Amino acid sequence: MAEKPADSRKNLKNRTKLVHAGRKPSEQSGFVNTPIYRGSTVLFPTLDDLLNRRMPFTYGTQGSPTTEALQTAWTELSGAKGTVIVPTGLAAIAIALLAVVKAGDHILVSDSVYRPNRNFCDTILKRMGVETTYYEPLIGAGIEALIRPNTSVIFLETPGSQTFEVQDIPAIVAVARAKGICTILDNTWATPLFFQAHAHGVDISLEAGTKYLSGHSDLLLGLVTANEVWYPALHATYDAFAMCPGPEDVFLALRGMRTLELRLNEAQRQGLAMAQWLGGRKEVLKVLHPALPSCPGHEIWKRDFLGSSGLFSILLAPCSQQALAAFLDGLELFGMGFSWGGFESLVIPFDCKTYRTATPWAPQGPALRFSIGLEDIEDLKADLAAGFERMHATP
Ligand SMILES: *Cc1c(COP(=O)(O)O)cnc(C)c1O
Repeated sequence: MAEKPADSRKNLKNRTKLVHAGRKPSEQSGFVNTPIYRGSTVLFPTLDDLLNRRMPFTYGTQGSPTTEALQTAWTELSGAKGTVIVPTGLAAIAIALLAVVKAGDHILVSDSVYRPNRNFCDTILKRMGVETTYYEPLIGAGIEALIRPNTSVIFLETPGSQTFEVQDIPAIVAVARAKGICTILDNTWATPLFFQAHAHGVDISLEAGTKYLSGHSDLLLGLVTANEVWYPALHATYDAFAMCPGPEDVFLALRGMRTLELRLNEAQRQGLAMAQWLGGRKEVLKVLHPALPSCPGHEIWKRDFLGSSGLFSILLAPCSQQALAAFLDGLELFGMGFSWGGFESLVIPFDCKTYRTATPWAPQGPALRFSIGLEDIEDLKADLAAGFERMHATP
């Protein structure tokens, strides 16, 4: 079998790219998978080779065949100029922002971003002299009114963490492009399979590989892609930090990537089935799932996205803390814990009241976020139904 060069893979479907991209069996004794290269030092045969850095890889922080395999594949899948990989999703956010901002800048960040992103902006960037304004995620083209002469970044996340507002990316990108502002998107929920960030005009897109790319809750990783304009700055910033991930984590991410489409399609099926079932329960006031009409921005999701993953939220009718605890503590299949996108189902309560600044968050009762895993859906429903019974039995 001849290996298809990257160029000739351009017209292949994503499913096929996920299987073939970033593999070179002929360079590894025919074995299917790229092995784990561990190492700092790379040896140069001659002085001339060393002085001219004439080796495919030059030092551990500069990449290895293992990291290159993931970068190549993710770049192809994302339709980007290039990818850098870092140890966590939060590091991906940090590197993306630091690639663009400088002292004296102002940035616009969605009020619905992953909460530690706000912490980075409110502490590190503030200390560097960068001012952050949080914007209402449904603002669309109205974002123009918030732009100042020194605005350098619009940081988007769609759908929003926990609250799932779907943003009008093309409208915001059009404003940003006209003003020479860089757009950065946290695309973790959709992945490049369900939302093609760069094709929608986004400059820099990032993925917490910790979630669906891993798919098994056993690693942390961040991937940042950029278009032609921004890749040089992104790569230079990565280089300055040498914030490289460990080779085992990259290997596991590559392994996860081969089945990403399969798992995402199943997450979509399971997530929708569960969201619809919960929507029919009398205890649930509202379901925040981008593929359902009750979600703010659902029409935009329908227009721009290619699918929905298995993460969504619900708003419950008011109940006591004890009743909520009775529901959650007795669950036998749903785990309670942070992160998501693994094979196992999770649920956590959340409350944005204390930190959202652009839009008040005032649901009537508690809010829960679900990550639906690969268990049988009827078993999952029975677990939750028993939880609702415990809830009703608790004053
Ligand atoms: C989890 C998450 C991150 C951060 O990923 P880590 O690897 O846990 O640092 C970033 N963005 C979103 C939307 C996330 O859900």
